[in-house]
Amino acid sequence: MSRERVRIVVRGAVQGVGFRPFVYRLATELGLDGWVVNSAQGVFVEIEGASDRVSSFKRRLKTEKPARAIIQSCESSHLDPLGYKEFEIRESTDHGGKSALILPDIATCDDCLRELFDSQDRRFRYPFTNCTNCGPRFSIIEALPYDRANTSMKKFEMCVDCAREYCNPANRRFHAEPTACPQCGPKLFLWNSLGEVLACADAALRQAADEIRAGKIVALKGIGGFQLLVDACNDKAVRRLRERKHREEKPFAVMFPSLEGVCECCRISEAEESLLTSPEAPIVLVQRSPSSLAPAVAPANPNLGVMLPYSPLHHLLLCDLNFAIVATSGNLSDEPICIDENEALERLRNIADLFLVHDRPIVRHVDDSILRVIAGRGMMLRRARGYAPLPITLRQAQGSILAVGAHLKNAIALSVGTNLFVSQHIGDLATKPAYDAFASSVADLPRLYEAKPEIIAHDLHPEYLSTKYALQQASSRVAVQHHWAHIASCMAENEIEPPALGVAWDGTGYGTDGTIWGGEFFLVQKASCRRAGHLRTFRLPGAEAAVKEPRRSALGLLHEILGDELWRQKNLLTDFTRAETKTLRSMLTHRVNSPVTSSAGRLFDGVAALIGLRARTTFEGQAAMDLEFAVTPGVTDGYPFALREAEPFVVDWEPAIRALLDDRGQKVAGGVMAARFHNLLTNTILAIAQRCNQSKVVLSGGCFQNRYLAERVTNQLLAAGFQPYWHQRIPPNDGGIALGQLWLATSPIRELT
Ligand code: ZN
Ligand code: ZN
Ligand code: FE
Repeated sequence: MSRERVRIVVRGAVQGVGFRPFVYRLATELGLDGWVVNSAQGVFVEIEGASDRVSSFKRRLKTEKPARAIIQSCESSHLDPLGYKEFEIRESTDHGGKSALILPDIATCDDCLRELFDSQDRRFRYPFTNCTNCGPRFSIIEALPYDRANTSMKKFEMCVDCAREYCNPANRRFHAEPTACPQCGPKLFLWNSLGEVLACADAALRQAADEIRAGKIVALKGIGGFQLLVDACNDKAVRRLRERKHREEKPFAVMFPSLEGVCECCRISEAEESLLTSPEAPIVLVQRSPSSLAPAVAPANPNLGVMLPYSPLHHLLLCDLNFAIVATSGNLSDEPICIDENEALERLRNIADLFLVHDRPIVRHVDDSILRVIAGRGMMLRRARGYAPLPITLRQAQGSILAVGAHLKNAIALSVGTNLFVSQHIGDLATKPAYDAFASSVADLPRLYEAKPEIIAHDLHPEYLSTKYALQQASSRVAVQHHWAHIASCMAENEIEPPALGVAWDGTGYGTDGTIWGGEFFLVQKASCRRAGHLRTFRLPGAEAAVKEPRRSALGLLHEILGDELWRQKNLLTDFTRAETKTLRSMLTHRVNSPVTSSAGRLFDGVAALIGLRARTTFEGQAAMDLEFAVTPGVTDGYPFALREAEPFVVDWEPAIRALLDDRGQKVAGGVMAARFHNLLTNTILAIAQRCNQSKVVLSGGCFQNRYLAERVTNQLLAAGFQPYWHQRIPPNDGGIALGQLWLATSPIRELT
């Protein structure tokens, strides 16, 4: 059994309740080494020991905690073992003032839930019930310090009863800033699509439930923004939502009334269950089993994004309904979610039939977070509610730097002292509303922490709107190469130092040579970092159009290896009409509008098209997902590849594509081809790790959201004696770029050599 070290940061009512002695007893009982310490940021625990004992520690920490301890947030990171010899309670290390930490929004606690359904309680069925241990935080705070006057609750004057609770140190609502009750707090309304009030308070909630039952689409003003709700078993209603939202196939997330409900429709592991029921209450991607859910919820997808109710409003609604509902972002395709009811009425008028709204303003949008369990650990895919804006903490303080992130899945980041604050998911900066949300976040984050960033870090891509924004600012600027930022973000959250081999595989990023990178290997040394190698390049006929049409990537791959011979092999051109072939041929022959790329993501696309899985996509990453889902388990061999030694070295996929074409000719099953392709990729990484002879291998980029790829490569690397690192708290996709930019901004190894 391997030895591991896990850092756990527990926040909530965990100080002064016997939490440290409890941690000590549990760790020593399990024979684990490490320490526990109280700090202004919460209780920090590090444990080290055999993996199975570490897992049971993590589980029992939550289930056996002292009765008065309440966990609001519990983040864990797997780190390299340090060789602790004992377990100790350390002296608090905090000097000076309490750090200004803003908590994320926390799911309804058990005590509030009990009151919510207790007909004798004065908060019976009151959808804005909360206490010191739960409720909105980041989504309502306007400025520090965290006082009611600095939140969007300031407009609600506390009634006598609420004020008494608020002032009583023995009460659960002592200084609960968003505390409220039916007398004094926010109120619920049901609007039609003209904004006319149909019902108020509990009647609004009950009527909204009736409408959902009848197949209507309800826009709900939730914690961090609007969600669109519809009966998840009503296929017609779900398809109507798809049509109106212009979202053809991208899976919808589903909210279940209870964990039992989830288990009826999905197969979930212990790790997945623990994420679902955590105070962060994210969407978790899990494996589906046959169920009565509408096919349109997640077409042709073996996984399902599931979540449990996390606000009193959701609890009441789901309890009334007692069936699962689609709960998707309240936006039009890729725009940011709406946070204001009047704006929602405008923007969602053609999508929602009804609007269930309230008068507590949302200060900033905070989407639902999404995680997937990979190799037994949670991996963040979209970081927002429940997690943002908790920091990644460095050992040494950094200057004040703002990082503006990438273009897709944008998030920004800010360093203040030793804390690196990564913003909530902002979105794809492709639309005006998304850019506006970006601009307001860029102003918001430094203002919240009263920081004056001296440096702005941005991507190298001149056309990213985030880059353009940075270039307009007066502060000094640094550009960070996209894939190097991916690797740096993974190193930052895993707290590792060079040397290391970095493997950055994603769809698209601007390279230092002006071509599109995306299948990169970096050699990270103490004093420098260089692009040591990459996947063989090919052309993307139609450039941006190729992102939506995997068949174009396939054509680019084929043209790269066959040259003009391709145009004589009609069996390879069946995805195209004659006219299309003519246009694309001209692009490739004359090298116009067909940029060169080393992208692993586009290689995935091309292979998905060659296998016949998908010629066109309707959302980013769809073809790669198809390829992952198609994999036949148990296939152990991989397609061959060649390594061309050069500076940088080139991993040549030509033997693989030729073998795949042979398989295709012999009618080998698509699932077997998909497996052989994945195995090729993991074998490649292993071979490069051996060639570069670096014990640490850092895996980042959107491709590593692929569970088969990530799990197989980490297993192979571990078996061969390497130490792989992958993402846990920060997304491997472009949502993690800002952290990498921040980490590298003042580093001597920022520029690739
Ligand atoms: Zn509570
Ligand atoms: Zn009150
Ligand atoms: Fe990327």
